[in-house]
Amino acid sequence: MTASTGAGPRTEAPDGASPPSNADNTQAQSPWPGVTLAALPKSWTFTSSLPPDPMYPPPAESHRPPRHEIHPRQVRHALFTWVRPEPQSTSELLAVSPAAMRDLGLLASEAETEDFKQTVVGNKLWGWDEEKETGEGYPWAQCYGGWQFGSWAGQLGDGRAISLFEATNPFTGARYEVQLKGAGITPYSRFADGKAVLRSSIREFIVSEYLHAIGVPTTRALAISLLPNERVRRERIEPGAIVVRFAPSWLRIGTFDLPRMRGDRELVRQLATYLAEHVIPGGWEALPARLEDPSSPPQDESILTPLTGIPPSEIQGSPGEEENRFARLFRHIARLNALMVASLQSYAFTNGVLNTDNTSLLGLSMDYGPFAFLDVFDPSYTPNHDDDTLRYSYRNQPTIIWWNLVRLAEALGELLAAGGEVDEEWFVSKGFSKFESEEATQPYVRRAEKIIAQAGQEYKAVFLAEYTRLMRRRLGFRTVNPDDLEGFISPLLDTMESLSLDYNLFFRTLSSIPLVPTPTPELWDTVLPKFFYPSTPPSSLPQDKAPLLKDLTTWLEKWHERIKQDWNNGNPLIPEIDQERIKAMKGVNPKFVPRGWIFDEVIRRVEKDGERNVLKRLLHLSLHPFEDNWAGREFDGVLYEGNKDEEERWTSDVPKVGRMLQCSCSS
Ligand code: AMP
Ligand code: MG
Repeated sequence: MTASTGAGPRTEAPDGASPPSNADNTQAQSPWPGVTLAALPKSWTFTSSLPPDPMYPPPAESHRPPRHEIHPRQVRHALFTWVRPEPQSTSELLAVSPAAMRDLGLLASEAETEDFKQTVVGNKLWGWDEEKETGEGYPWAQCYGGWQFGSWAGQLGDGRAISLFEATNPFTGARYEVQLKGAGITPYSRFADGKAVLRSSIREFIVSEYLHAIGVPTTRALAISLLPNERVRRERIEPGAIVVRFAPSWLRIGTFDLPRMRGDRELVRQLATYLAEHVIPGGWEALPARLEDPSSPPQDESILTPLTGIPPSEIQGSPGEEENRFARLFRHIARLNALMVASLQSYAFTNGVLNTDNTSLLGLSMDYGPFAFLDVFDPSYTPNHDDDTLRYSYRNQPTIIWWNLVRLAEALGELLAAGGEVDEEWFVSKGFSKFESEEATQPYVRRAEKIIAQAGQEYKAVFLAEYTRLMRRRLGFRTVNPDDLEGFISPLLDTMESLSLDYNLFFRTLSSIPLVPTPTPELWDTVLPKFFYPSTPPSSLPQDKAPLLKDLTTWLEKWHERIKQDWNNGNPLIPEIDQERIKAMKGVNPKFVPRGWIFDEVIRRVEKDGERNVLKRLLHLSLHPFEDNWAGREFDGVLYEGNKDEEERWTSDVPKVGRMLQCSCSS
């Protein structure tokens, strides 16, 4: 597989800028190399490369009218509007992610500064001279559309997100678009207020950083601030908040959907070119090689037929010479998304609203609303209270992401269809409207369909390969056996479902089972209860489920055989090897999972009880989820005080009433 992991595109360090040496750091004691916010290299590539809202082409024209004159409206032939955040009279910085500071290349101490506190709520703008009303850059909101719950929803856009600048980490060269969520209305706010409530902001802040910590490709979060004077109306009146988010790009499938639905073919092409040339590290050259021979198509192609309408038998062959750079771009996006959704499935994370406007072109998990990790393993679970048809249930996520990718393929359709003629003058200026008969376009349509169908095969193959790889790691396997999915993973999932076992707890428990001395049948019996919540032990199972315990034991015995095979040539493990095995498994099977009930508790304590440190403790566990314990230990050179009882509570039993919670979309 040549696709990158999507874990944060790397770009070259900006021209002429060499990474500052440690000697340049004003604070040598920073646990990671960093610069001040002022020294952080900033750019506005997105806005300087793509068309602005024609109502305010230069930022100064948007800056002059007062903010209360901003009204929702349709914005055409544009990918963004210049718009500054609403000024905040008071704010309280609640938490900052040290991992985010490090990845952006900011000094740890920078989070204490006034510059930082004012930047993260939108009061301080960078690149803009207020007096001269001019500057290198200005904040903006993106224009996009989307398919929501299977229907075309029209123009959406950043209704409450405002991007400030792109920041390039001077040490790694990674570039990120930094944006505020909840910073007030924009022309894309539709019927809403542009605000975010504290409740959903805490959830998004924490889960972004948690998913990153467990290796899921995701957008990130830097800081969360409370707006104590904001009273935001949802089902009740709630306090407002702003989260600072960052990602190599916030472009989503919905960004293509809108110009496509408006027939703006020029903008579609411009956007695709921008994506390849300015966002994807390595540009066009880095895209996957031509598909000369779609190697070993997956056996089960049922995912393709209903979506493309093309029977699998007709999509064999060699389309290589027909694939142009846009086809390779589409395949790249499909592969990145396959990797992302494989990661979600392997950790049983459900986004809850996988509309095309929430599906990243870089394969980043994004836009966290009613998300949840599965507690007990129930594949039909959706955390979204309003999703009656279970469209976005856990089980459906891989299919839905492909459904979204087919919408993208439709947007790119004529570019895919054009093959080697994509740069010909007739195609660029007119496209297929030059043909008088529909018949003449048929070969082109068939070409695009073939490319899409093959990308679907590739999507599925990449998904399965990545999902199986991640699951093997979670099971402690070190070798690859073609039967792993059918022979190990599927039966385990069936048993988990029938016994209502907790998905992530299972893997952590499995990691911790000592295999020295070699377990005996009696020993397995003592192990079994550990896979259950203490409050619902195996003895509480209904009569008809009891035989399933035997299935679990049989599976454990088979698993043990495989571990012996993989770790010690089939011999019983010796203590050193078992320690190594336990360590490897714990390193991919988190002990801490930010579950719905924990969010509810922390939100209540912060919002109602005025606690603050509890949020920082939640963040800490989320950034270091694989540890066995946290309190009293040093992380990044800093002693973490923590709270042992709370850690114990948050990592063991999920209270019965707190399992498989659902949220509404109102956030
Ligand atoms: P989401 O479901 O959060 O992905 O949002 C879908 C669309 O609704 C996006 O265009 C958002 O910008 C917009 N939106 C959601 N909540 C708000 C809000 N409170 N104010 C303005 N726009 C919003
Ligand atoms: Mg969204």
